[in-house]
Amino acid sequence: MQKKLKKNRIRCKHCGDIIESKSTNDFQKCKCGAVGIDGGLDYAKRVYGSNPTELHYEELSEYNG
Ligand SMILES: [Zn+2]
Repeated sequence: MQKKLKKNRIRCKHCGDIIESKSTNDFQKCKCGAVGIDGGLDYAKRVYGSNPTELHYEELSEYNG
């Protein structure tokens, strides 16, 4: 069973901005532009600038089950 995404949300570690994608095509970018998210509750897509690593954001997503 795959975990069901309840909230697709991250916080940028550079600017502290919390961004949340609420639907499949709801692309959000943080204030400083280092990270972005997309995919809503269908898939937790992460978009980065030059360095694709979790050092740039804190995972705040919530799952059911
Ligand atoms: Zn940022």
